Amino acid sequence: MSAGACGASAPYRPDPRPLLSDYPSRFGRPRIVLDAGHGGSQSGAVRSWSAAEKDINLRVTLALADRLWAAGAWEVVLTRATDRTRSIGARYRQSNRTPGRKTAFVSIHANAGGGGEGVRRGTMVIWSSHQRPGARKRSERLAACVGAALRETGFPRLTGERMPIKKARRQKRHYVATDPRFGCFATATRRLGVLDHNRHPAVLVESHFLDNKAAVAAFQNDAAIGRFARALEVALMSFYA
Ligand SMILES: [Zn+2]
Repeated sequence: MSAGACGASAPYRPDPRPLLSDYPSRFGRPRIVLDAGHGGSQSGAVRSWSAAEKDINLRVTLALADRLWAAGAWEVVLTRATDRTRSIGARYRQSNRTPGRKTAFVSIHANAGGGGEGVRRGTMVIWSSHQRPGARKRSERLAACVGAALRETGFPRLTGERMPIKKARRQKRHYVATDPRFGCFATATRRLGVLDHNRHPAVLVESHFLDNKAAVAAFQNDAAIGRFARALEVALMSFYA
């Protein structure tokens, strides 16, 4: 991976200037496909102390969409804006039908499983090592931008997983890895069709762990969701800067 704006050689720094005033517009606005995970008959993770994952994903997605729309510098495409069922194929095909050299795909999820209540916490950003090489490189960079922005905003990194990414890449199955270049956790996988088959830079972001009651209480309110949406907006700005 080349060290881009989000690489180790250029650590992320918050920009004190007004956010979008100096955004380049001559090449057209970046177009962001926002994918609220699950929906309709597919609840995603369900815990008695939490909103259903599909609902919290939609809430986060709409908060981010509102931010991007309000800023006026983005085009926003939603794979769903309501509680409806959409297949994985429908989601990545919608992304692939969305034109634009400056189009990116962000899937919003919440995490669960793998350690029991309270063991794991934190955010995770995922890209797919099975995307076509050009898109994969850009997805890695987008993941780095998201990881940096989440870290900068004070969202905790995922705890409970430790595996060097090179070792993880040799594995055949879904795996989680940490990459110190990004200051965030990242996963490469062959199971996440929304990423694998996406022709645009594509990441999947896990906002918090539904297994963790404290994390649920801390995240599932307007203020925290707004902060998370803001971090993703900053990540997209830094990706396109
Ligand atoms: Zn999910």
